Amino acid sequence: MTEHVDVVVIGAGFVGLYAVHRLRDRMGLSVLGFDTASDVGGTWYWNQYPGARCDIESVHYSYSFSEELQQEWVWSERYAAQPEILAYLNHVADRFDLRRSFRFNTPVESMTWDETASVWQVHTPTGTVTARFIVSGAGNVSIPKQPEFPGLADFAGEVYATHRWPQQGVDLSGKRVGVIGTGASGIQLIAAIAPEVEHLTVFQRTANFATPLRNRPTDLEEWEKIRANYPQIRVASRNNFLGVVTDPPEPSAKLADPEQRRARYEHYDAIGGFHLLMSSYADLLLDEESNETISEFIRSQIRARVTNPAVAELLSPRDHPYCTKRPPMETGYYETFNRPNVTLVDVKTNPIEAVTPRGLRTGGEEYEFDVLILAMGFDAFTGALLAMNPTGRDGVTLAEKWNEGPRTLLGIASEGFPNLFMITGPQSAVALYNNPLAIEDHVEFASDAIGYVLERGLSTIEPSVQAESDWVRMINEMADMTLFPRAESWYMGANIPGKPRGLLTFVGGAPAYRAICAEIVENDYRGFSVA
Ligand code: NAP
Repeated sequence: MTEHVDVVVIGAGFVGLYAVHRLRDRMGLSVLGFDTASDVGGTWYWNQYPGARCDIESVHYSYSFSEELQQEWVWSERYAAQPEILAYLNHVADRFDLRRSFRFNTPVESMTWDETASVWQVHTPTGTVTARFIVSGAGNVSIPKQPEFPGLADFAGEVYATHRWPQQGVDLSGKRVGVIGTGASGIQLIAAIAPEVEHLTVFQRTANFATPLRNRPTDLEEWEKIRANYPQIRVASRNNFLGVVTDPPEPSAKLADPEQRRARYEHYDAIGGFHLLMSSYADLLLDEESNETISEFIRSQIRARVTNPAVAELLSPRDHPYCTKRPPMETGYYETFNRPNVTLVDVKTNPIEAVTPRGLRTGGEEYEFDVLILAMGFDAFTGALLAMNPTGRDGVTLAEKWNEGPRTLLGIASEGFPNLFMITGPQSAVALYNNPLAIEDHVEFASDAIGYVLERGLSTIEPSVQAESDWVRMINEMADMTLFPRAESWYMGANIPGKPRGLLTFVGGAPAYRAICAEIVENDYRGFSVA
């Protein structure tokens, strides 16, 4: 007989752990979780590459749903490294006894809506489970981008990827290493491994606006103050655009006095992390002239740190405004290029032609190395959902429905796919919203919607066609009001050849998103069809 549960939860990362706790322990539903990995952690399970670290401050990058949990955990650094975040998620799993609800090493291969029984059939290699609802936490940056160039299989050395770094680590000492990719992952990895390797060749296509993280250890005294104030801190972060706590910005960079503007940029650059973006000026993502002031400030910082002017210029972004690609945060990244054992190769002018048995060919020249590391990014937002092959009403697949780009309401649900909740889905508030808090909001919206359906003895909930069209139009209109369409970024779906181009995230900020969700709930799930 086919196994049946109330809710299937996909993924055992930040989403899945909280979803299981809330649906199982607080709502009393039967819940079964699946994860491809052998244990909990999600993105922090897979991305164990050297230098992996979160660039949202530890005080904010954690769950807020349990006061006991936030009182008992103390982070050791201002910005936690991957092992500490993975340890935290293991602690959460133990504390709330969550592992028993998961089947690990079990990918969801497909899911099909059964109209007659009003259930989802969830297919895995070990069998089929039916569920009334699905909450997907499969991740928004979890399916890797495939290389466009040929020859990878012919490479005689070792190949690694940041998104699937071996758990036992890799000994790179004394080796010649090539790295493709200078996004957030590549930038962290490059700075971490450069001192260890014999030679490092960095293949850069687009220079990025990386700014200092300014990490430091934290002590118990500091955490005691934080723990005493957690409720207020969480209120403040939930009222902040990015879901953290930052000083309010001045209105306009282009209208500011140039000397005061530079002083303001220096001040927030010295504080580090996202404070530079969030606290300097409010129009940086809206006005090109304003954006150019901070873009040029960051270029001047690069010039001051990189000794070879030609290398500094190659590291200086000129083809997109600051933050229209997700800005990486760095520790010693630019100084890495002052090292004698590091070479920067421009693969924008001369795109990578092929991986060869001994290395990589670009511009007719071959670069040799023993180890190749790919840090080439992800098929973001839609990749993980489409990889699970959902088929909704009338046999329509999600891939067919999203042929020209995703169509959702709130980025959480899509018409024709009833009772399927996509946490951190396309067009949701997640890329510009501190993930643990964004995830809590989304999981709470989904579980409350499930509760609403069940309490009324109903069967299904899904967006109305009209409300979904309105949401998609609003996302596109928001894109046009900002500078985001100016970059070939994963925010725009533009990093994957052939992927439909369009803004994939809500850019109105956390408070606006939360207010819209609350308004929908207060009005009996306005915009959703409940039957
Ligand atoms: P990414 O930002 O998409 O970077 C991928 C890199 O690979 C880019 O430099 C890209 O160049 C390059 N690339 C792709 N195809 C290429 C090709 N054919 N030839 C040469 N270069 C190529 O991916 P990511 O670094 O893994 O980061 C993804 C997201 O994960 C981040 O933006 C962030 O949200 C999250 N993340 C966060 C942290 C953190 O908290 N600190 C750390 C890591 C990741 P182009 O730019 O030219 O496409």
